[in-house]
Amino acid sequence: MSDQNPVFIPGPTNIPDRLRRAMQVQTQDHRSPAFVNTLTPVLAGCLTVFGASEAEIITFPASGTGGWEAAITNTLSPGDTVLVARYGMFSHRWIDMCERHGLNVQIIECPWGSGAPADKFEAALRADTAHKIKAVLVTHNETATGVRSDIGAVRGAMNAAAHPALLMVDCVSSLASMPFEMDAWGVDIAVAGSQKGFMLNTGMAILAVSDKALAAMDSATLPRTFFDFRDMLTTNAKGGYPYTPPLQLIYGMAESLNMLFEEGLENVYARHTRLAEGVRRAVEAWGLRLVAQSPELYSDTVSAIYVPDGFDSNALTEHAFATYGMSFGVGLGEMNGRAFRIGHLGSLTDAMMLSGLATIEMAMADLNYPVKLGSGVIAAQDCYRKTAKPVLTEK
Ligand code: PLP
Repeated sequence: MSDQNPVFIPGPTNIPDRLRRAMQVQTQDHRSPAFVNTLTPVLAGCLTVFGASEAEIITFPASGTGGWEAAITNTLSPGDTVLVARYGMFSHRWIDMCERHGLNVQIIECPWGSGAPADKFEAALRADTAHKIKAVLVTHNETATGVRSDIGAVRGAMNAAAHPALLMVDCVSSLASMPFEMDAWGVDIAVAGSQKGFMLNTGMAILAVSDKALAAMDSATLPRTFFDFRDMLTTNAKGGYPYTPPLQLIYGMAESLNMLFEEGLENVYARHTRLAEGVRRAVEAWGLRLVAQSPELYSDTVSAIYVPDGFDSNALTEHAFATYGMSFGVGLGEMNGRAFRIGHLGSLTDAMMLSGLATIEMAMADLNYPVKLGSGVIAAQDCYRKTAKPVLTEK
């Protein structure tokens, strides 16, 4: 019966029944007008979620990693310099991908638990008087550490240095759960996926691309075929795909956008903040510590939590699954064994969240953590009771 439990990994997320039903459609001809009528509003809806007015929305049958590859191969050439800060597993993996593509990666090393250092970006960009840096790459929400970075501050740093580099942002684990402002932050390429805030299964990389990034396409010489924006844009304009699209997932995207807009994006963000706050109160009540170094960095989609000295976070997540059938995120990279993660994004209610907190508390008690059973749940209950919005309003 453990497949009845919600997951508390930071994506893929729980898939609401409404979306599972929406994806239960028979195969249709993806060259038919019916497909055009489905795809076109999906692209328009995504634009709103990205906080963009004029960007091109480009989707690929891929995961978020494919989105990264599309972003760099369409805009850069071998030997180009990119500026990136490394402060977690996902910023690290994007760096690795750039290096494997023969880019010259200028890395700012930062402690895990910190965020994108706008001041250091500004210094590096000011020093680059020859404008060799072609792109600044930033992970908005570092899923490995539960850190949200200030993308507006990075844009401010680029403007202060009057630097023309492209700004590329990974919003894989933040889009549709936390505010994202492509226009206001001057983002040139934003990369997301279907399996996090959109509450769907994995399989679609979703990008928003500015005119400036599109202009870089013609001179960029990194090899690309499957991920070539040009093929996608030509066929999208006619409501189609250059190859076979993931039809059921696109139906899912259409319904996911309906759900997000019915709830209202502001309410979606506020729900994530409340859920996250309850988790943070629980962590405090347990006497444990978040990996994120300070409150302005706290992510509303995932909390990474250090285990006490002498404990192994892998043993905790393994025990929670083996005994109670519930999944929590393991510590990644530098955090492996030292921290576990609670995902709190997508389709989740207060009651679901409390079940996760109660379960990880039982697992900690079983493994003799110095944690008082019930303390975290009480702290979260207190937070949720005080901030609850009635589901039914009295007439
Ligand atoms: N970037 C971030 C911030 C992520 O959290 C993930 C996956 O969890 C990725 C990139 C990679 O995305 P995918 O696993 O969909 O390829």
